[in-house]
Amino acid sequence: MQQIIKTSGPVKLIEYKRYHPTYRYDDLEDDPEQIRLAIRQHCLEEQSYLCAYCCRAIGVKDRDCMNEHIQPRQKYPQYSLDMNNIIASCTTKGCCDDAKDNDEIAITPLSERCENELKFNLSGTIKAITPDAQQTVQVLKLGDSLQQNQKLVDMRKQAIASFLFTQNIEPNDPIDIEDDELLKLLIEELKDAPHGKLTPFAPVIINALKTWVEGNKV
Ligand SMILES: [Zn+2]
Repeated sequence: MQQIIKTSGPVKLIEYKRYHPTYRYDDLEDDPEQIRLAIRQHCLEEQSYLCAYCCRAIGVKDRDCMNEHIQPRQKYPQYSLDMNNIIASCTTKGCCDDAKDNDEIAITPLSERCENELKFNLSGTIKAITPDAQQTVQVLKLGDSLQQNQKLVDMRKQAIASFLFTQNIEPNDPIDIEDDELLKLLIEELKDAPHGKLTPFAPVIINALKTWVEGNKV
C-alpha cells in the first residue's frame, strides 16, 4: 500500500452533493453526468495511477479499476459519497476490492500505518508486523506467503528485481549501509511520476529497499 493524501474531490461531485444532499452512491445508478467516472479519475490522479491496495498499475485499460469504498457502502451508506471513503482499486480476481467484498480492514491506505506496519521483502512477500496489519493483509489477500497470492508476490519480486537491475545493484549484495545517500537517490528516482504516473509497485519497492537496509543494520 501507499499512503494516499486525499483532496476535496471532483467539482462535479461537489455540485451534485450540493443539489442532492441526501443521495447515496447507489443513487448514481443511471449517472448521466458520469459522476462515478469523475470520482474514479480523481482517485487515479491522487494515487498516481496505482491500485490503492496492491500498487499495481491501474487506469491503463477501461475496466482495470473501480471506485472502492474503504468502509463498505452497504454497511455505511452515509459515507458512500464521501471522498475520504473512496479510493481506486484494481479489479483483479481474488485480491484487493474483489477479496475484500463487504469486509472492513484495520489499516487503510489513508493512514501512515499502511507504510509502517507492512514490510516488503525482496522476495516479494509481505511481513505484516502487527495483528492489525495481519488482518488487513488477510482480508485483501495481499500475499504474505506464496500460498496466499503467488501471482502478486511474483509481480512484486519481478518489479523489485527489475528496478535493482536498472540501478546495477545486486540483490545478493547488500547496499553499503554507510551509504544512506544512495538509498535517498533510489527513493527519489522511485517517487518520480512523469505525467502523474508512478512506476508500478514504486511504493512497494521503496518499502522493500528501506526494509533491506534496516535489516542489514541489525
Ligand atoms: Zn490491487
